[in-house]
Amino acid sequence: GVNTASASAASNVIRKKLQGYVGFANLPNQVHRKSVKKGFQFTTMVVGESGLGKSTLVNTLFSTQLYPNKVVAEPSHETPKTVDIQSITADIEENGVRLRLTVVDTPGFGDFVNNEESWKPILDNIESRFDAYLEQENRVNRTKLVDNRIHACIYFIAPTGHALKPLDVEFMRRLHTRVNLIPVIAKSDTMTEEEVHAFKERILDDINFHNIQIFQAPQYEYDDAETIAENREIMSKIPFAIVGSDKEVEIEGGRMVRGRKYPWGVIEVDNEDHCDFVKLRQMLIRTHMEELKEYTNNFLYENYRSEKLSAMGIQQDPTVFKEVNPVQKMEEERLAHETKLSKMEAEMKMVFQAKVQEKEAKLKQSEEELYARHKEMKEALERQRQELEEKKKRLESGRPLTPEKSKKKGFSFNK
Ligand code: GDP
Repeated sequence: GVNTASASAASNVIRKKLQGYVGFANLPNQVHRKSVKKGFQFTTMVVGESGLGKSTLVNTLFSTQLYPNKVVAEPSHETPKTVDIQSITADIEENGVRLRLTVVDTPGFGDFVNNEESWKPILDNIESRFDAYLEQENRVNRTKLVDNRIHACIYFIAPTGHALKPLDVEFMRRLHTRVNLIPVIAKSDTMTEEEVHAFKERILDDINFHNIQIFQAPQYEYDDAETIAENREIMSKIPFAIVGSDKEVEIEGGRMVRGRKYPWGVIEVDNEDHCDFVKLRQMLIRTHMEELKEYTNNFLYENYRSEKLSAMGIQQDPTVFKEVNPVQKMEEERLAHETKLSKMEAEMKMVFQAKVQEKEAKLKQSEEELYARHKEMKEALERQRQELEEKKKRLESGRPLTPEKSKKKGFSFNK
């Protein structure tokens, strides 16, 4: 709620010991091993009127007391006039996998007499995180990008059983193009199973009616049947009916479970028959964390970026718009880059060809040399053969001496 000022520790990193299995040890299976060394980083935002159980849910989600015990301040007449943005970061570790988790709370949302602009500071916050990322991307040295963008926004709907409130619709309409919206029904233990079911349908109808885009897990052709079924099962539970509790209660048989105790029994947080908490956690941490991050980067952020770039072009003098049109500029840069590339390619081709020619010439030369040697040897052999042939003939005709010798002798005599 509004009184959680003590919980704000914007840059303080709290090291927490986990009290139970959370599921992010499965992260290496979601992405490449390389990321394991670096550790994982995930930022989620919780939005909803105070008292809906946001901080309780976050603590339940990560099996850790992420929120320090709340200090409930004396009721004051000076009610804050704006929505506050607070963020808490914790490094948690499970089976040697590190996860840096940041939870951004938005106390004050919907708590005012006039909540018309409650969404504004939240949108501003999300966009300023995009800006910070964009600024890093534009730097020369872009090796170490810090990603503080919001990867998911859990939106708490009050368990009224009626329909979405105008405030809910307004918030989601304003934010759905900027963040992955995950609507949840808060404190669903205050409703019966039938009520929850009907309420879910009503909420989805409203969401469709207002063309609100909530997070949808993509289906991949290469997914195996089991994964597809699992995804479908998770998606079918949206909006998740949530029960949060960071306390353990005793159930029949003396076992201790996380839950809420009522005169008629216990609602168990981790029991899928009792609520959708397990499904929400599974989606956020075990199966869709990378998907949420990817969609944020490839779609939400990318859209924001191009909108921002074209807006920058328009904001300048409209008469020179053409010249500074960022899309055109990018196209020109791309062309220049391509020209440069093809020039380099041509140069490389030339060098390559020259090398090939050189080598070919060398080969040809040695081939010629070989051929000449071959010819020489062949001729020598031919000469030998002829000599032998003649010797043979002479021997056969019975001439005693080699005519050459006597000739030579005679010749020398004659001389
Ligand atoms: P926040 O202001 O949205 O952060 O709400 P809190 O987490 O502080 O919760 C407000 C009150 O609601 C506390 O008394 C919680 O114990 C209670 N609460 C939290 N989650 C649930 C829930 O799922 N069901 C019920 N019945 N009460 C809850």
